[in-house]
Amino acid sequence: MSQNFDFTIIGGSFAGMTAALALSNVSPNLKIAIVEKQDILKQDRKRDGRAYAISAASLKLFKEIGIFDETSKEAGVISDIKITDYKSPFLLDFLGREVGGDLGLIIENYHIHNALRNQTLLRENITFFAPNSYEEINFEGGVAVKLDNGKILNSELLLACDGRFSKLRETYQIHTTQKRYYQTAIVFNISHERSHENIAWEKFLPGGPLAILPMKNINQSSIVWISPDQTAEAILSLDEKNFISQLTKKMENCLGKTEVISEKFSYPLIAVEAEKFFHKKMLLIGDAACGVHPIAGQGFNLAIAGINILCDLAKENLRRGEEVSSQSLIDSYNKKAKYEAQKMLVATDILNSLFETRSLSLSLARDFGLGLVNKIPSLKRFFIKSAGGS
Ligand SMILES: Cc1cc2nc3c(=O)[nH]c(=O)nc-3n(C[C@H](O)[C@H](O)[C@H](O)COP(=O)(O)OP(=O)(O)OC[C@H]3O[C@@H](n4cnc5c(N)ncnc54)[C@H](O)[C@@H]3O)c2cc1C
Repeated sequence: MSQNFDFTIIGGSFAGMTAALALSNVSPNLKIAIVEKQDILKQDRKRDGRAYAISAASLKLFKEIGIFDETSKEAGVISDIKITDYKSPFLLDFLGREVGGDLGLIIENYHIHNALRNQTLLRENITFFAPNSYEEINFEGGVAVKLDNGKILNSELLLACDGRFSKLRETYQIHTTQKRYYQTAIVFNISHERSHENIAWEKFLPGGPLAILPMKNINQSSIVWISPDQTAEAILSLDEKNFISQLTKKMENCLGKTEVISEKFSYPLIAVEAEKFFHKKMLLIGDAACGVHPIAGQGFNLAIAGINILCDLAKENLRRGEEVSSQSLIDSYNKKAKYEAQKMLVATDILNSLFETRSLSLSLARDFGLGLVNKIPSLKRFFIKSAGGS
């Protein structure tokens, strides 16, 4: 049995469901299929320790696709980002009010996932196939995807949203650069004695950076503790008393007495970048195209930037009466989304190496950099806008 769509999306997670909803907004006449191997329709997504910093620009799309209300009621607000470095007397302070608003929200990612799923199920032009995977894909005269239940999905364009280690990217031999950082991010939630005052802290300390992200409850924060792999293993094997004592030291006691209030999760850090973001009538979206270091909390925000690019191009094609799978759309998506990804890869990589480095020239650049940015209002406004993604 076969069904016809305009887009078939493989991977129904953050990038896949966001792309489906955003494309569904482009026109109610577009028909979209999502294929997801996990049974996300029957089960809510569980906590995996990650709380995403969602930029002001991404929140605009959250509103447009109808998930803002459900996610923002669970969110912490970032009104100030403070970046400190143990070797430098300077503190970089990005105040939201300097650009006329908050800098973004901190949302535990399972709330976002569940809101995306709930909204997707309300759309008449989106059909979910889950739990399902694909068995064969044929690119002759469009795209035909054969599912593991024998169904054939015909469409104009295939969107590969199958994550950082994308099997589709591998199958079609899209050359991909991988960078292992030999670092692990340990993520979990804490409660603390003092209010976080809606401040997000990024502390660059010996052994790796620590991010303290303000949650909805003013006495709770989400922690991203990045360390070299072996150190992270040792940290995770500490008993609770020693773990808290190391954490308090790392936090420079900025929030008073703390307690871990969730399970701890760990993620080995690997950046990936596909050489091109397409193959025939398939586009790579989200982590399948480019997965960045989480130091600046930008991976999903970058996926959203790519989805906005695709939707603008699709809208323009429909306006001109062209197919949404035209070669010019594919080429423009590749060029524009790749440009956004490369900007982000360079920025996160520089940020990571700048604060990791032992080289004198980079240390000086960093120390001057922190002080300088604070002193020059226009430079500071530029960085605040980048943090807010607007
Ligand atoms: C520690 C950490 C902190 C982070 N913090 C932030 C942050 O603050 N802000 C931010 O913007 N980003 C953050 N990120 C990045 C963010 O997690 C990713 O960018 C985002 O999850 C990518 O979503 P995705 O949909 O592309 O991939 P995934 O979420 O990996 O989804 C891939 C989906 O494809 C499905 N799939 C795979 N193969 C198949 C198949 N054959 N058939 C059907 N389905 C298939 C999988 O089941 C899965 O559901 C962080 C990442 C880490 C590791």
